[in-house]
Amino acid sequence: MIPKIKIIKPLDDFLLLVSFDDGRKVLYDLKEDIATIPDFKALETVCGLWKQAQLDSSRTCIYWNDRIDLSSDTIYEYGKEIESSFMAAEPQVVYNEKCSNMNEPTLNAHNKDEFPPAHTAEHLLNQTMGRMFGCERSRNMHIERKKSKINFLIERPLTDDEVKTVEAKINELIAADLPVTFEFVTRDNIPDGVKLDKLPEDVSETLRLVRIGDYDVCPCIGTHVKSTKEIGNFRITSTSYNEGSFRIVYKVAEE
Ligand SMILES: [Zn+2]
Repeated sequence: MIPKIKIIKPLDDFLLLVSFDDGRKVLYDLKEDIATIPDFKALETVCGLWKQAQLDSSRTCIYWNDRIDLSSDTIYEYGKEIESSFMAAEPQVVYNEKCSNMNEPTLNAHNKDEFPPAHTAEHLLNQTMGRMFGCERSRNMHIERKKSKINFLIERPLTDDEVKTVEAKINELIAADLPVTFEFVTRDNIPDGVKLDKLPEDVSETLRLVRIGDYDVCPCIGTHVKSTKEIGNFRITSTSYNEGSFRIVYKVAEE
């Protein structure tokens, strides 16, 4: 299968940063091509040309003009693989969600910078990924106003169609305007289906359970919207897959 390219960034020194649909990210060095392929010389000699790298509509070819191009499989094979976080180097809030990452036994410590619509959407996404693909609730996420990222452990990446189905399901739940409620329960009163195995032994005896309609329930001390319509439109902007971890990047509350 020909690897499809998602993002390209021409960096200095003729290094091309390329991100593929399957999550692979590589740095491809064009210096050797420039030294050995006559047409490629123009990248060095024509001012500004290098930065005009374009991706064709099939997303399998990067080109600069009609004589300079590179196929995605070449880049995929010969590029040097880099860490997946490299391209996500934007400022972000590191968010330790207590629903799934109960490392802290206190119930009152929570990230103040969270964005309730994005956080509430995360509950829906966790439940949906569990129902559709059997995923455990995510323990690895960054939730923020502009863009949120959440990683699920799964054997394979979701197909584009599956991603669309997940997105549609979340928007359906939002449109249903499900109420978000919470209740305090003691440890021995936890309803069926709420997993507490990630909780440390010394977690407080009382837990706060957050319910979204009858769709989702999980222990959480975060801030939520009152009902799902307040989340606004939910959109998955990109996905990637790396070593058993499927990352979903999403936005909420867009006009
Ligand atoms: Zn929550």
